[in-house]
Amino acid sequence: MIGLISATAAGAAARDRLAAAWPGRAVVYEGPVREAVHRAFAECEQLVCFLATGAVVRLLAPLLSDKSADPGVVCVDEAGRHAVALLGGHAGGANALAEAVGEVLGAAPVVTTATDAAGLLGLDMLGLPVEGDVAGVSRAMLDGAPVELRADAVWPLPALPPNVAPGSVPADPADAAVLHVTDRLVESGARRAVVRPASLAVGVGASRGAPVDEVVGLVHDALREAGLSPLSIAELVTVDAKAGEPGIVAAAARLGVPLRTYAAEALAGVEVPNPSGAPLAAVGTPSVAEAAALAEGGELLVPKRKSTPPPGSEGRAAMATCAVVRRAPRGRLAVVGLGPGARDLLTPRAREELRRASVLVGLDQYVDQIGDLLRPGTTVLESGLGAEEERARTAVAEAREGRAVALIGSGDAGVYAMASPALAEAGADIDVVGVPGVTAALAAAAVLGAPLGHDHVSISLSDLHTPWEVIERRVRAAAEADIVVTFYNPRSRGRAWQLPEALSILAERRDPATPVGVVRNASRPDESVRVTSLAALDPATVDMMTVVTVGNTATRQIAGRMVTPRGYRWQSAAGTGEGGR
Ligand code: SAH
Repeated sequence: MIGLISATAAGAAARDRLAAAWPGRAVVYEGPVREAVHRAFAECEQLVCFLATGAVVRLLAPLLSDKSADPGVVCVDEAGRHAVALLGGHAGGANALAEAVGEVLGAAPVVTTATDAAGLLGLDMLGLPVEGDVAGVSRAMLDGAPVELRADAVWPLPALPPNVAPGSVPADPADAAVLHVTDRLVESGARRAVVRPASLAVGVGASRGAPVDEVVGLVHDALREAGLSPLSIAELVTVDAKAGEPGIVAAAARLGVPLRTYAAEALAGVEVPNPSGAPLAAVGTPSVAEAAALAEGGELLVPKRKSTPPPGSEGRAAMATCAVVRRAPRGRLAVVGLGPGARDLLTPRAREELRRASVLVGLDQYVDQIGDLLRPGTTVLESGLGAEEERARTAVAEAREGRAVALIGSGDAGVYAMASPALAEAGADIDVVGVPGVTAALAAAAVLGAPLGHDHVSISLSDLHTPWEVIERRVRAAAEADIVVTFYNPRSRGRAWQLPEALSILAERRDPATPVGVVRNASRPDESVRVTSLAALDPATVDMMTVVTVGNTATRQIAGRMVTPRGYRWQSAAGTGEGGR
């Protein structure tokens, strides 16, 4: 919950706007400011104070304990011009909260955390648990001092700055900063931090009524004796029949990990070193713990072991079993659409994925478009026009190595672009995330007016990959069905006759006066827009930076804009109809 506190009328007005924007997420603390701040600090994960930073510092100073526990605090000034992340920038989420408050109130977020300010990665922003001297290692990272990277495997992490690399500290002096990425227990100390990848699957079995302490104790013992960290547990896994077993459910909650269950038949098919008759009789599989842990593959680090009954119950039979498996890292491929060109048509999610990647694959001109958004240290693999297959293969191969890869394309990366060749290449062994983008057709439509108000298609006139007969058949079908058509790749130096040919096919079914929109470089600095007609369009004015949108028989030019009616209950331009629902 986010606690909101204000003192003045202007503050209260801004506070109420925030409360209205975040119903169920934000709660207003009324009354004297001092008590309100104290109560909110005790009860909320985050605070937004419509108060001077000085006042908030004085009120909070006696309450602060440490940054992993304290709420994140944002201050907003009287005029609502700035949202200052005051406390708990990373762990408390105040940096992100300042951004979010800024968006609602139109205030500029003020973030002073060094790692964010420099565009570098905060260790605590990896989305993975980190322990040890996080502040010390972060400082070394930020200062550009060498940080020895010791990773057990390639993990899909965001780009680390170039000073963080294996072998960056040659003689290994005792005071060197070291960043481990491992599920193993390692020696702690000053300037040593450990990032915990979610690599371990812990299989558990339990008889009915097994106490949670016995299950958790077993898991902790098993991991400790194998030299493994509980912070690297990806999930607890068991058989469907135990999905509601209270000791297992509570153990997952206490360990802070998800619980996943498998059907007994699935587990029965997993080969394990220690099958036994008891679970076969009880739940229908000769192994629960080992089979569940191994269900997604991996290396069995701790074979099945039994729990120790808690003090007081010595002598009774063990009620729980567990087994631990290390899974291979899964790489991550994000297929990211960059939009038509303008920076503000790049979605926030696309931006986030670009900063989430350690490898960027794309056409050189698109890399230039977003190069400034990448984290320092990102590996850029760019290639020229025509190398689509190679780009797709490279991106998938990098993800297979375990890396976090962003494969970029203009507009939407799934539309005449990289997503299909890449996914044709990718197997089930990597994670794939798609980020939609604003296509050229949509960007062009927005500047033309409302040409896509009813059914519409896109047709690419490039016959490099598609035989002309196929293209022609589709254009005829669109003509026949009276559908608005947007032509992509309409004309290049070597392909001049296709556009006139396609237009003449549409002209067989549409009036010569049918509006046609020609948009070149939509949303880019040299954008140009023309609305003409089927009869008047001069193909020579069209090139590969252009899309051509041809209206249907109902499309009109109204005040210079291209408008396609929604189809029924259409009235005149000045009419009252909004169209049907
Ligand atoms: N994935 C892209 C399309 C790539 S195909 C998308 O979703 O939009 C390349 C063709 O797209 C170009 O030949 C041109 O016809 C069109 N195109 C791409 N960006 C454009 C822009 N900003 N303005 C006009 N047309 C554009």
